[in-house]
Amino acid sequence: MGPMAHRVTLIPGDGIGPELAEATCRVLDATGIGFEWETVQAGEAVIAEYGTPLPDNVLDSIRRTKVALKGPITTPVGAGFRSVNVALRQALGLYANLRPARSMKGLVTRYEDVDLVIVRENTEDLYAGIEHMVGPDAAESIKIITRAASERIARFAFEYAVANDRHRVTAVHKANIMKLSDGLFLESCRTVAAGYEGRIEFDDRIVDNMCMQLVQKPELYDVLVLPNLYGDIISDLCAGLVGGLGVAPGANIGTDAAVFEPVHGSAPKYAGMDKANPTALILSAALMLRHLGHPDHAKRVETAVRDVIAEGRTVTYDLGGTTGTAGFADAIIARLAA
Ligand code: NAD
Repeated sequence: MGPMAHRVTLIPGDGIGPELAEATCRVLDATGIGFEWETVQAGEAVIAEYGTPLPDNVLDSIRRTKVALKGPITTPVGAGFRSVNVALRQALGLYANLRPARSMKGLVTRYEDVDLVIVRENTEDLYAGIEHMVGPDAAESIKIITRAASERIARFAFEYAVANDRHRVTAVHKANIMKLSDGLFLESCRTVAAGYEGRIEFDDRIVDNMCMQLVQKPELYDVLVLPNLYGDIISDLCAGLVGGLGVAPGANIGTDAAVFEPVHGSAPKYAGMDKANPTALILSAALMLRHLGHPDHAKRVETAVRDVIAEGRTVTYDLGGTTGTAGFADAIIARLAA
């Protein structure tokens, strides 16, 4: 590897993660940029050895390289370990979760012209993990919203809009009911929006109305900024609008580090079968290329993916094809070389 190679932490993850990671690394290597992969293991597979699904060496590696590409990690439901994904975001201060949702030719969906970007606050709200029982028959989860985190995520959304030639930011909330917590989120967004007046439009929607608007006329919206829980739900909804989890990329971005990962989970029933769609991880890697300062290469990868999907001959089962994970990646690599 030459001196310009990027050192990147690679977390293959659980279930379908390793085969998707292998396919994605081959696509990235085909760009010619040059990567040195620092591969570390997290998730179910390492619990027996380390006593935790998130060993310290994983965090140490990301702190060193400042950028990671991550496959999905299984989170046991109910009792057991805390979500590795939530723990990673909190430990590394990855406060912004970026999830673009854009229509692609060749995918059978209800809409053809969706081009949304979801900006989700990643560190607080009901995901702060503050829960307790109140006696044996009641439970409380505490929703934390702060001005600092709300203004920070709003600023991220507006800066993203400026840098990516977007025109409008919509804040999503339920401030009519949660007047203090969601009220503070909305107020913080308004404060930040004032600094962009004349450059980026701003408006807001109540989350239930937003859901209806998104399933009726998604083409009317541009960048959405949301607190953690609504952001989680709405980003899956938006993934559904453009073709489902198999094609939905994501990024978790902080001041000192960034982790790029698909929206989907580890789909254990398809693990090791060379069936899963690598698109979401490959498009997450394209977001990583932009983050690393290679927008032209990012666009080339995205175009190659879109072309292969539009052509429809060498795609995975979820897109109506019979090609496997590796074969799909081969087709993308062939496009990159063309
Ligand atoms: P999932 O996303 O793993 O799978 C749901 C279904 O979507 C699958 O059965 C499959 O039909 C389809 N699917 C998902 N990814 C696909 C792909 N790349 N190609 C083709 N089809 C695909 O969701 P789940 O079943 O709710 O979760 C499984 C595990 O993943 C859970 O333990 C969950 O906690 C975890 N999870 C992890 C992350 C993450 O690591 N960021 C995100 C979500 C879920």
